[in-house]
Amino acid sequence: MTPSSRTRAGTTPALTPAAFADETLLLLPEEVLLEGGCARDQAVLVAGGRFAEVGDRRELLARHPRLTPLELPGKLLMPGFIDAHHHLTQSLGKSLVFGEPSEIFKRIWVPLEGSLDERLLRLSTKLAALEALRGGFTTAVDAGTRASAELAGIAGAAEETGLRCVLGFICNDLGGDRPDGGTIRRAAERHLADWAGHSLVHPSLAVSIPEVASDAMLRDAAALCAEGGAIFQTHVNEHLQAVERSLVARGQRPLEHLHATGALGPQTLVAHATLVTPWELNLLRDTGTAVAFNPVASAWKGNAVAPALQMAAQGIRFGLGTDGTRSDAFRLLDAAETSQRLAFGLASGDSSCGGGWLWLDHATRAGADAAGLSGVTGAIAPGLAADFLLVDLEVPEMTPSWDRPWELVRYANRDQIDAVFTNGRLRLWQGWPADWDARALLREVREAAGAAVERAPIQRVHPTSTAHRARLVESRRAAAGRAPHG
Ligand SMILES: [Zn+2]
Repeated sequence: MTPSSRTRAGTTPALTPAAFADETLLLLPEEVLLEGGCARDQAVLVAGGRFAEVGDRRELLARHPRLTPLELPGKLLMPGFIDAHHHLTQSLGKSLVFGEPSEIFKRIWVPLEGSLDERLLRLSTKLAALEALRGGFTTAVDAGTRASAELAGIAGAAEETGLRCVLGFICNDLGGDRPDGGTIRRAAERHLADWAGHSLVHPSLAVSIPEVASDAMLRDAAALCAEGGAIFQTHVNEHLQAVERSLVARGQRPLEHLHATGALGPQTLVAHATLVTPWELNLLRDTGTAVAFNPVASAWKGNAVAPALQMAAQGIRFGLGTDGTRSDAFRLLDAAETSQRLAFGLASGDSSCGGGWLWLDHATRAGADAAGLSGVTGAIAPGLAADFLLVDLEVPEMTPSWDRPWELVRYANRDQIDAVFTNGRLRLWQGWPADWDARALLREVREAAGAAVERAPIQRVHPTSTAHRARLVESRRAAAGRAPHG
């Protein structure tokens, strides 16, 4: 179909998934999100799972007269979002953590993940991958599971759904019943080698938090990643308790501790970095270390908001992460901007707070860089994997349009994502998988989740929402009963 083949009434035949079945696609979207902003009159050629050409529509059509172009009126073709920090094995817990005080990993996540068998792990990961894709993420960086079942199960779920996944292998060598350092190092090397060159799974090494690894392990895991072109992940400076434990144990804050072991560097991605001193910001900048900025995690369970605008101004590399809170990329953009505005912008009269584009950039191109995937994904550019979204622009909220990037940050919604592609293949169509039965997965999850949560030694301290309300109503009633009448 060519632009002139629109019907007389000006309508275009409804798109169906079948339209995207070819290996080679010459796409003519209304707009394309490029690094400099949204561009019109562009064409995008996808071939062999990659973007082959991106450029002026007329030139591409003239260069490829034998290809049948696919007109996509009213659609924005944009890079898939990068979730720079996720826990794919926690999806069976989700709202169990709402209202809980900060260190939920100790009371909920470690017990839950520790009790997942291979089937539950697979269900949990596949569910998380589906949620990520529905939310517009084509890549998720998994921080490493604490579960004992094979990582291959997680990788399998990513492959089945089509989610690009950076897969962390946990190298903790302190605390609990851990193998010796030599065994962990050999397993880490095997992990890096086994997944090298895979089309969707990118191996990574991780230490949950610096205090659960020896200095030698922190240094070696980071060095193995640097040598192998992988990223080394850890959580730092998220909670006051952890910062204080580190100060008491060794007189250093967690980021200073990492720096002292030699574990900071361009290969390292630290999650959170919310409680950072100006000196620690300099460490991040000077070592080229990347940060996963997780604004929803701050709101739901944090002690602070990472100074992301300050990081941007200092040239500190960062991506946006969900930390497994909510796999909704557009809401993550909104949360990123809002968090900076409330935590910093209001107090300094910074009405710009990133100017809209900054959040899109850090959720795509810069997020891929933080995840160790620049040159692989994160932009609509020749040579990169064709990981992209088709977003419906013909909605009331974005009409009329005056500033598309900022509209994407503040107005866009998950239900506008018509199609999700990774490696040039259609994975989701209007929120549901193109080639597998997601509703059957949901039925299986509903049947299995109850027993899994029941079996796990989870300790919750906050009641469910309904029980919380009932408790409040009861206490008010009791107080009224005690009040003097008159
Ligand atoms: Zn995390």
